[in-house]
Amino acid sequence: MGMEKEEASVAEPKKTAETAGRRGDSWRRLLLITCLFSLTLPYVLSRVGWSSTPAWPLGDIVTVDIKAIEIQKKKLLGGLLSPDFDEQSCVSRYQSPSYRKASPFLPSSYLAARLRKYEALHKKCGPNTPLYKKSIELLKLNRSVDHLECNYVIWTPFNGLGNRMLTLASSFLYALLTNRVLLIHETRESIDLFCEPFPGTSWILPSDFPVNLRWITRDSPLIYGNMVKNNTINYSANASAEWVPPYVYLYLMDNYKHFDGLFFCDDDQTYLDKVNWIVVHSDIYFVPGFFLSTRHEDELQRLFPAKDTVFHHLGRYLFHPTNTVWGLVTRYFDSYLAQAGERIGLQIRTFKWPPVSFEEFYKQVMSCALQENLLPNVTNEDGFSLSRSSNVTGSKAVLVVSLYAKYYEEIKSMYYAHPVATGDVISVYQPTHEEKQHTEQHGHNQRALAEIYLLSLVDVLVTSPFSTFGYVSQGLGGLTPWILLPPWREKAADPPCRRVLSMEPCFLNPFRFDCRAKKEADPGSLLQFITHCEDKAIAVKLVN
Ligand code: GDP
Repeated sequence: MGMEKEEASVAEPKKTAETAGRRGDSWRRLLLITCLFSLTLPYVLSRVGWSSTPAWPLGDIVTVDIKAIEIQKKKLLGGLLSPDFDEQSCVSRYQSPSYRKASPFLPSSYLAARLRKYEALHKKCGPNTPLYKKSIELLKLNRSVDHLECNYVIWTPFNGLGNRMLTLASSFLYALLTNRVLLIHETRESIDLFCEPFPGTSWILPSDFPVNLRWITRDSPLIYGNMVKNNTINYSANASAEWVPPYVYLYLMDNYKHFDGLFFCDDDQTYLDKVNWIVVHSDIYFVPGFFLSTRHEDELQRLFPAKDTVFHHLGRYLFHPTNTVWGLVTRYFDSYLAQAGERIGLQIRTFKWPPVSFEEFYKQVMSCALQENLLPNVTNEDGFSLSRSSNVTGSKAVLVVSLYAKYYEEIKSMYYAHPVATGDVISVYQPTHEEKQHTEQHGHNQRALAEIYLLSLVDVLVTSPFSTFGYVSQGLGGLTPWILLPPWREKAADPPCRRVLSMEPCFLNPFRFDCRAKKEADPGSLLQFITHCEDKAIAVKLVN
């Protein structure tokens, strides 16, 4: 036994050396693979939108689950969203992709990278950071300071929710293009609507901001257009010794004037770069205006190679309903819309101008839906089907979104009273009918947001002319709706509707000036990717 042991122990060293050599090789290989893995994994994950600094220690053996990465990629909207949020604090941010078809419009990797860079800037300069406090102290000195690390755009709320979402997205693009930080002047009626869009910070302007932002008259010398009109601006590049105001208002309300619109031109943008705080007063989508200057041409091209996706991406990036609003959306969707074979959204909104009666507009909505085969017609019989299942070819849920109940009642009664020629099962729903716009009421705005969002989840959409409510739904949904054309002389329009060319919202009162040639011009014919809107001839929109 002892001998055997000895022999064995004599033979052992060689065997051990060989094995050790082989083991050493495989350990080295394993170590090499692990190192390579650890080095490349952050890159792979960052490409799909995961953090570039995962918490796995070097040396852990990790199996990359391609399916999990794909799910994560879908959840983060192809890199549009930051993964750095607590999911429970804002369920809609990561749950919404499971309520809609995947968007065929992927954000450019450049846009995703710029958003991450913006988030870092916002974190550095956000409310109550040392740099924010420094900017506030300098603001009190009543002049703008050159090369300040943190400059800001302050968004202020005007008009309905649709208008607000469009001006917020426009202001955010301005902030992205000019390396500013976007802060919002939150008012009582707009709390608990949207989640914070930037991780680890806040976009809400602190309430102790030293300027009262709502107290401004149209002829204030602090409105940029008035400064231009009053010749108080020195455009020259070497005018750094000049006094530059600490803050300036941009007046881009629907009735803005030529001097206000010069904001979109290169020289004016260069001047405004020197102003530390820009306050936006607007109720219109003004994104197409940035395409009129040469200054942002390259950057816009890199951010949005597909021009008709600006609001789609910025909207999906910024606007995540809070858990309260998301509860309204999901409970309604799951109860009434989820099971349908097809979901058809009818957004029915009328304005004082152009005037039209209920009967005429109802006629127009239905002619659009029937002529375009969005809804099936009913037969004149009031009979019933002998065979129940053989006639049922499909189920369609019609989501009527309107301030009024009448349209819903009428459509529902029509499908209740008569059989459908195609045999489809038609269900008609309306979440609320508020009867009147109450933008000052918080609960009303939550319901409005829930309905804008529900509309964005349908398969087929019909919208109303000039309605920013409809524009936002189509943009968030990535939908190109049929838009009802404005009634004419109190009669239904004929044709009743048209399919829109792109999902982009309209710039309803565009700047009619060629900044490059410095002369009046129709912006709808200046650039090939800006065209006139279907619902308003002078309005323009981005198309691809
Ligand atoms: P626009 O006036 O159509 O451009 O859309 P806005 O959203 O800017 O303003 C209209 C406001 O009226 C909405 O924000 C809501 O407060 C209210 N409103 C209009 N239509 C509807 C609707 O169909 N449903 C609900 N819940 N509110 C609506």
